[in-house]
Amino acid sequence: MKKTSPVCILCHSQESRILRDSLRYDIKRKVLQCKRCSLVYLEPLSGVSTAYYASKKYRKSYGPNLKKTSSAREIFNAYAPFQEPIVKEIKHLLKPSTKILDIGCSTGHFLAALKGKAKTRVGLELGQDEVKFIRKNLDFKVYAEPIEDAKIAEGPFDLVTALQVLEHVPNPFSFLQSIAQNLKPKGYLYLELPNISDVLLSIFKIKGYEDFYYREPHVFYYSKDTLKALLKKAGFEGEIKNAQRYNFLNHLNWMLTGKPQDNFAVGNGDPVLISDTSVDKMIKNDFNKFIKDTDLKYKQLVEKHNLGESLTFLGRKGL
Ligand SMILES: [Zn+2]
Repeated sequence: MKKTSPVCILCHSQESRILRDSLRYDIKRKVLQCKRCSLVYLEPLSGVSTAYYASKKYRKSYGPNLKKTSSAREIFNAYAPFQEPIVKEIKHLLKPSTKILDIGCSTGHFLAALKGKAKTRVGLELGQDEVKFIRKNLDFKVYAEPIEDAKIAEGPFDLVTALQVLEHVPNPFSFLQSIAQNLKPKGYLYLELPNISDVLLSIFKIKGYEDFYYREPHVFYYSKDTLKALLKKAGFEGEIKNAQRYNFLNHLNWMLTGKPQDNFAVGNGDPVLISDTSVDKMIKNDFNKFIKDTDLKYKQLVEKHNLGESLTFLGRKGL
């Protein structure tokens, strides 16, 4: 019997090539690329269930520290110091009257960073531990359902954000439609997601990074072009940019060892070359300054060519 080829959700082509046949943790699964529009996706498209995100299994396999399963408190503490570059992207939209919804808010670290900067903050998160953590420790409401099912009383919103979420969503059109329903007519959508044109994949072609990169919960792998096509089809207009948040030393580590660093914070914060306290302070500062300057230049170069690991979108539903 002839197997039917999957249909691309963006351009409906049935012509695809197989990029890989395994994911992180050696999970056997095909990664396909549409021959017509270049969209990259898992086959089959089902992804993981909402129950999987609610369970502890998800955090056991995917978290800020690869050596151990982080508690919700540890996840919050790991990501909280890194919210400033994201806040910067939407700061100009925040007024005392702003109502904001963050979809897939994890432990609420992004909304916590907006304390005092908006009138109403609401989160939406499937992870049970994360939801419990927010309800116990933070001062905003969180819904524990997918956006497609949630009846959010605090809406409609001036701004909806979804940070590192869209790549998990098996039906991005119904996801974006549900977002539109929760937005005010002139409300903004802000997205961050992985960029398949990531310099480590597309230019340096690091085998270890490829093996680490493709993972079961990420069903789609967007580029600037395929993200643009998706948003256009869903009726959103705006600006797509790329950002390189991981530092120069993290990339050197990938190039030299082919392995991830154990901890998210080392790769995402300022690059530190010398941390040894016995080293002369002046010498240490001089070398660390060199690495910091090099890091800035490297990130500018990567972003200039749209090769940063993250894509960002800020825009509105077309009127
Ligand atoms: Zn296609």
